[in-house]
Amino acid sequence: MTASPVRIHARAPGAAGSEPAGSAVAPMLTLEQLHAMPAAQQPDYSDQDELASVVGQLRTLPPLVFAGECDTLLDRLADVANGKAFVLQGGDCAETLAGVRADAIRNTLRTLLSMSIVLTYAGGVPVVKMGRIAGQYAKPRSNGVEVRDGIELPAYRGDAVNGFDFSPAARRHDPDRLLRVYNASAATLNLVRAFTYGGEADLRQVHAWNRGFVRDNPAGERYEQLAADIEKAITFMRACGVSDDAFHTVSLYSSHEALLLDYEHAMTRIDSRTGLPYDTSGHFLWVGERTRQIDAAHMRLASIIHNPVGVKLGPTTTVDEALGYARLLNPDNVPGRLTFITRMGAGKIREKLPPLLAGVTNAGVVAAWICDPMHGNTFETETGYKTRRFEDVIDEVRGFFDVHRELGTWPGGLHVELSGEEVTECVGGGYQLAEGDLSQRYETLCDPRLNRGQSLELAFLVAEMLARVAA
Ligand code: PEP
Ligand code: MN
Repeated sequence: MTASPVRIHARAPGAAGSEPAGSAVAPMLTLEQLHAMPAAQQPDYSDQDELASVVGQLRTLPPLVFAGECDTLLDRLADVANGKAFVLQGGDCAETLAGVRADAIRNTLRTLLSMSIVLTYAGGVPVVKMGRIAGQYAKPRSNGVEVRDGIELPAYRGDAVNGFDFSPAARRHDPDRLLRVYNASAATLNLVRAFTYGGEADLRQVHAWNRGFVRDNPAGERYEQLAADIEKAITFMRACGVSDDAFHTVSLYSSHEALLLDYEHAMTRIDSRTGLPYDTSGHFLWVGERTRQIDAAHMRLASIIHNPVGVKLGPTTTVDEALGYARLLNPDNVPGRLTFITRMGAGKIREKLPPLLAGVTNAGVVAAWICDPMHGNTFETETGYKTRRFEDVIDEVRGFFDVHRELGTWPGGLHVELSGEEVTECVGGGYQLAEGDLSQRYETLCDPRLNRGQSLELAFLVAEMLARVAA
């Protein structure tokens, strides 16, 4: 593993006996075997020949990430599992093909990076940065159809499957979209690598965003001290002549839900260094709340790839289920391989998390535990907007920290849906966004995201919690 500041690419292809993961598909699990297993939330393609042609093309395309990068991330996540680092994972609920724009991607990155500076300073531990980015194009839906004015059409399942427009043509499940998503992910990753390596990630510049937030946000006063302290630390380091690549570049990893079996299997390649399969569609893949059945295809695929993987755990999760995931996904109990992403809801976390966390921890399972305070807190307004209250999000994170403190375990991180733009999708926060404001700039095609101001405010609040843990 390289120890240098790694940008997004950890290991140069060909260096030190390392080559990018190759083109052969995982030999121990064929696509046919996967499809023979139960699998929820899969597209219903009408033309199987078209699908086969797309999958064949995907298999020949270059990997989007290298196996060595996934190994580096696994090491960073091992630090999280061992209580020595914190994860910040965030981005869109659903990326869109139309959203692959330089300004939008830059704003998402800036938001993630400014949040991570605040968390790093307050927590005094490294922050592992992962985007829900460059691959987050497929969505599980609780209802397979949508009805408008008496007309029923297939539900929108993310740009990887169909279009958002409410027409039969747009809502058709179209295999060709998998190739478009591959290309969009490649373009996004290319820009992410350029930004994180090319000056955008400069510590001073990113912190300027935090200062702007503290100055402009009505709730900013509370965070003035912390922002000023960070400013002083940066100035001090500069005055001392500390000049390290780490101040100018960052590692930002890509992640998404591994939902579409055809796509994820086609992107799974044998790493020529080790002969092991990696899913090269992203660095970190997770199995969602709706597809985490232990004997189903998503878990099976996750069990054979060597990327670090996650499982979302909702409020109904039992200790036995979680132990089953650990046995299947991480039989050797390797720190960093397995992340549990809990999404209980603000009203349930203090009741549901303690027995689960205690049961799994006492059984000796090593995992990173991170908090998704979004998906258990969604509701619909009377005017039909899906939204979340900023105060519920904060409350769930507080509950998460409280439970970990009581059990003596490490609150390993945060998984959030956010936008780097001033969208109006979640209510509350410093600007006291009201339900009536949602229509101003409601742009998500799926779940509501925190906007830039709400995201930074969340970071400052979580920083206070993290500082108490670190103290
Ligand atoms: C998501 O992360 O967008 C999602 C659908 O989450 P979950 O599987 O937790 O419902
Ligand atoms: Mn979502």
